[in-house]
Amino acid sequence: MSASIPFNRPGVEGHELEYVRQSIDKGHISGDGGFTKQASMNLEAVFGGRVRVLLTTSCTHALEMAAILLDLKEGDEVIVPSFTFVSGVNAFVLRGAKPVFADIRPDTLNIDERQIETLVTPRTRAIAPVHYAGVGCEMDAIVDIAQRHGLEIVEDNAHGLFGTYRGRLLGTFGRMATQSFHETKNINCGEGGALVLNDPALIERAEIIREKGTNRSRFFRGQVDKYTWVDVGSSYLPSDMLAAYLLGQLEMAEHIQSKRQRIWERYAEALAPWCEQHGVRMPVVPEHCRQPYHMFYLLFPDLDARQSMIAHLRARQITAVFHYLPLNDSEMGARFGGRAGQCPVTESVSERLLRLPFYNTLSTADQDRVIETIMAWRS
Ligand SMILES: *Cc1c(COP(=O)(O)O)cnc(C)c1O
Repeated sequence: MSASIPFNRPGVEGHELEYVRQSIDKGHISGDGGFTKQASMNLEAVFGGRVRVLLTTSCTHALEMAAILLDLKEGDEVIVPSFTFVSGVNAFVLRGAKPVFADIRPDTLNIDERQIETLVTPRTRAIAPVHYAGVGCEMDAIVDIAQRHGLEIVEDNAHGLFGTYRGRLLGTFGRMATQSFHETKNINCGEGGALVLNDPALIERAEIIREKGTNRSRFFRGQVDKYTWVDVGSSYLPSDMLAAYLLGQLEMAEHIQSKRQRIWERYAEALAPWCEQHGVRMPVVPEHCRQPYHMFYLLFPDLDARQSMIAHLRARQITAVFHYLPLNDSEMGARFGGRAGQCPVTESVSERLLRLPFYNTLSTADQDRVIETIMAWRS
């Protein structure tokens, strides 16, 4: 009997363990040590050195920081896609804001930019697009709407590190963007994230919010002679051990990305004829978007087919998973006026989407087994 193939399996790629060891040997394992600085600089270089990147304990926490930095007030509205991870909505709700759900495009599964303007009201403060699977949202249109209505943009770029839209890196369109280094993401440290600040005016306050509302970062730089409570904040700074692990991964980014590209292209090539025959749709990546190969999904014709494939794979020790449930049709979404039928594309895609095993160390033999098992379904 063959071994099981998980949906995800995080792997060590370079010097991660050595760096963790070094952080311990140096006696600095709390936040903001040497590895935090190096990992942040590495990420700033990814973004062309024009941004400031603050490591956080998660993408969820980076989103919470972004919501605090926006000074959202009770009753302010934030336009979000209904097909996303809860953190991209909770962060704003925690500030008292109301999420307003936009449906997604049937092709890229990103927020449907054509709906955004119809949802703008005098209370709208921000748009929070998510680059699903790292394929860029239609940022030309979204930036244009934001400018005309004086709205902020916060990009949830959890899937999109290294992706581009019309040649420009995802994460550089909004005033802020957030990254995730959760173990399921391309680059990971188990749990981790980053807040990308494209506006230098936000840096000082962001540092304070991340340090429990104190000016401790300025104190450590010798800019003030004691540190004190100056603003709201929380504990959003990761341990230097995690930053050390993250640096090891970031240094191997090119290698990781090329492995993922190979895996993604192999799925696409091998499954194309089968998909055609079975009315199954593969991911759509428009010409003007470069994707970072975050995931490979299949869109089945209906819920029954998708569930049948999940069971078929599971019976052969292969784990494939569905993704987001529509937030508009959730218990919490209903409290903000969300309801079933409001976002038909999200509701349909949510029932039909299947994510295949996809991780940096997925071997060719295991990937072949996934592909062959899929092709043996109902045949
Ligand atoms: C993974 C993910 C998050 C949350 O990331 P954490 O680092 O686990 O908090 C948020 N948004 C999207 C789109 C994600 O995929």
